[in-house]
Amino acid sequence: MPARPISSYSNIMMQPNLDTLVPVYIREFEPYIPSKPDAELMKLYGCRRLYRLNNNENPLGPPPGAQEVIRRFPPSQGALYPSGDSYDLRVALASFHGLEPDQILVGNGANEVIAFVIKAFCEQGDNIVTADKTFAVYEWVAVFSGIGVRLIPLTEEGFDDVGMLKAVDKKTKILFVCNPNNPTGSYWSKGRLKAFLDAVGNERIVVLDEAYFEFVEQEDYPNGLSLIGDYPNLVVFRTFSKMYGLAGLRIGYLVGDLSVVDVIRRTCVVYSVNRLAQNAALAALRDDTGHIRRTRALIRESRAFLNEELGRLGQPIISGEGNFLIVRLPGSDTLAYRKMMREGIMIRPMTGFRYPNHIRVSLAQMEAMEAFVAALKKTLGG
Ligand SMILES: *Cc1c(COP(=O)(O)O)cnc(C)c1O
Repeated sequence: MPARPISSYSNIMMQPNLDTLVPVYIREFEPYIPSKPDAELMKLYGCRRLYRLNNNENPLGPPPGAQEVIRRFPPSQGALYPSGDSYDLRVALASFHGLEPDQILVGNGANEVIAFVIKAFCEQGDNIVTADKTFAVYEWVAVFSGIGVRLIPLTEEGFDDVGMLKAVDKKTKILFVCNPNNPTGSYWSKGRLKAFLDAVGNERIVVLDEAYFEFVEQEDYPNGLSLIGDYPNLVVFRTFSKMYGLAGLRIGYLVGDLSVVDVIRRTCVVYSVNRLAQNAALAALRDDTGHIRRTRALIRESRAFLNEELGRLGQPIISGEGNFLIVRLPGSDTLAYRKMMREGIMIRPMTGFRYPNHIRVSLAQMEAMEAFVAALKKTLGG
């Protein structure tokens, strides 16, 4: 046997001392484990097709105009850096919404802009306030950045404005409100939101996450962008991942007052948004083929179908706005996940959202909804 090579021996000696190198808040953080690719999952669970109903994607895909841009993307442009600040897209968004281009920051999904805002305003010892059962990324980014998090329980499946205001202290920098809320579909009316903003005052930032804005058709549902003029501490998130069907290209944005965005811009990573995503988002915005109308009609139909079928099964649901709903199960959601995967249905188990025994299902084409109901019946049956 040859002697152990000295190089690998010295590598062991050079192991970094992770006990002293890693901050406690990173050591204690549990990483999010994304699902495996379809082919791996189908092998693992022995199913021949897989409906992904776990991420609230648009089953109609991107609008036709954006599809065309994706098909025609010049391969040679793959070699070129994109616009570092999504210039053309910001100009188009500004005219679409009636804003200044410099009020907008585009990110690699709305996920990335969450980090921009937290980095811009929070330092060690500060905290953010949000709900216990909402989009988890606000909490995750804060925790792995060493920032405190105050999670206020939902009341009647919705954000508790009074509870959130009570939780605010000197160290609170940002309050995150998801409107409508993922996963419960609840929303604050314009009156309620304005009262909240009045009560918060100008010493803190309020983030209004409107990832599902384009799905909501209620009269009293506020457009956060129209409130920025009166409330310059308001920052609004939008995304191209949900209604616009571009989740795979990763593009979302935030909007705020010029002075606030000027600060947040300092924490942006330029070039994080790729060229194809910028081009496709621009085309999605300009598309006039009724993509939003068609998607809304599909979601209405699917929601009505599930309401009826789940009602017949006696399964309680939590359903509001957005392209998803929650089903309460008599038993474990993680077990139901595995059983439904064997039937080729991927749902979101809600234990991670602090909703044990609940699953969230994305509203999609009828074929998928029928397959979901069949798999759920089988799961509940035995
Ligand atoms: C999906 C989602 C986002 C982020 O979407 P991106 O794909 O990162 O743009 C943000 N907030 C909520 C509530 C969401 O559901």
